[in-house]
Amino acid sequence: MTSTETSTGGVGIHPAVDHGIPAAAADFAGGVLSCHCASNPVKVRVSAQTAHNHVCGCTKCWKPDGATFSQIAVVSRDAVEVIEHPEKLEVVDANAAIQRYRCRDCGVHLYGRIENKDHPFYGLDFVHTELSDEAGWARPEFAAFVSSVIESGVDPSRMDGIRSRLRELGLEPYDALSPPLMDAIATHVARRSGALPA
Ligand SMILES: [Zn+2]
Ligand SMILES: [Zn+2]
Repeated sequence: MTSTETSTGGVGIHPAVDHGIPAAAADFAGGVLSCHCASNPVKVRVSAQTAHNHVCGCTKCWKPDGATFSQIAVVSRDAVEVIEHPEKLEVVDANAAIQRYRCRDCGVHLYGRIENKDHPFYGLDFVHTELSDEAGWARPEFAAFVSSVIESGVDPSRMDGIRSRLRELGLEPYDALSPPLMDAIATHVARRSGALPA
């Protein structure tokens, strides 16, 4: 199609990774996320470096136009503060485990929050650091829910090429979360059930 396809081997993953993944900065202290509204954008300050950044193929995470995957990371909820236009935020699905707050005007998701204290990831908010102008955010480390891109309409015949491209970028593809995160969830469940000591 275009030069974009040439430089991405014909497989676009996400604009933040398609042309090489920028390095994280040492002692990075966060930045401000803005939605895509040309006027009166919602702004959210994230006052810490993120963790577990990854690209995600699920159908729930917000993706920029044309992207096959989202890019999503976690940060302590204490480090997330809406600083401009909170009145424009609405919850996408109040029944979801993660309450994703989007701008009602442009549709961009600013952060996702878990209110269930029993959830394995309670205390962490989910953020898209590409919404910030600051450079130095933690790099994406893996690809989650890769098979789920088919649910968004990707032809299954493209999956080999997508997984190859993810590996080329150093983003090991998984069809759920990464093994450390799946282990953390299972450990949380086992401690609650008594299968492991609390
Ligand atoms: Zn907006
Ligand atoms: Zn997702």
